[in-house]
Amino acid sequence: MRVKFLGTAAAEGWPGLFCQCDACRKARELGGKNIRTRSSCIIDDLYMIDFSADTYYHVLRDHLDLSRVKHLFITHSHEDHFYPQDLQMRKKPFAYFTSNDPLHVYGNDHVKERFDQAGGEEKSDGTLRFHKVNPFETFIAGDAEVTPLLADHAPGEQCYIYAIKLNGKTLLYGHDTGYFPEQTWEYIKKYSFDGVILDCTSGPQESMRYHMGFPTVLKVKQRLLDEKIARENTIFIVNHFSHNGGLMHDEMVEAFSPYGFVVTYDGMEIEI
Ligand SMILES: [Zn+2]
Ligand SMILES: [Zn+2]
Ligand SMILES: [Zn+2]
Repeated sequence: MRVKFLGTAAAEGWPGLFCQCDACRKARELGGKNIRTRSSCIIDDLYMIDFSADTYYHVLRDHLDLSRVKHLFITHSHEDHFYPQDLQMRKKPFAYFTSNDPLHVYGNDHVKERFDQAGGEEKSDGTLRFHKVNPFETFIAGDAEVTPLLADHAPGEQCYIYAIKLNGKTLLYGHDTGYFPEQTWEYIKKYSFDGVILDCTSGPQESMRYHMGFPTVLKVKQRLLDEKIARENTIFIVNHFSHNGGLMHDEMVEAFSPYGFVVTYDGMEIEI
């Protein structure tokens, strides 16, 4: 499966919308891979994980054809991952299609609530279908077999990370989350992941709860290997960075790649 990272920042973007800190100033000066928008990715041009407020910009930047996307998996309801107002742009007279297939949106209760507030299925003229999905209950979406797993992210919301099987490959999409809850560790024992994408919001700094930093990412990698949930040839990727981590893209590559990690940047594509 081919994964394309559309946005690789935490909620504020990097440089942050209003921020004048050193890390944001440096990112503005250097540009290129240091400019990070809000988080989402697209798989094989047909499946999307999360739908950020920067999606319109991603479409322009990467010449995406979103009309091809039929399945959208939402991790949680935070605005940087889910901007449901733009989903309503899929109906007439905002969009015209050759096919009548709806876009299937999958998420938890909180995601459903925000989806409905923005108009939901009702106002979408049949162009959107929402599916409430539950932790550890596998569902089929097109050719993909998808399982929501519990994250440790926002108190009061059951946030998901996802295990996705597609075309013979298995991917763990692991953010936003802190160190995984034990229920998730228990459940994923049956997998042997080909690709693992991990939350590295805090960059080189320590963070165990709600988001991770690199020291925790390393612990997760080691446990995945020890429990044979990942292999030596599994591709490990760190993603979802905040300016508070401080390191520029090249500095993160220098710091994390010796430990066998690929550091994402906006627009990066990787074959899992
Ligand atoms: Zn986030
Ligand atoms: Zn900043
Ligand atoms: Zn979040």
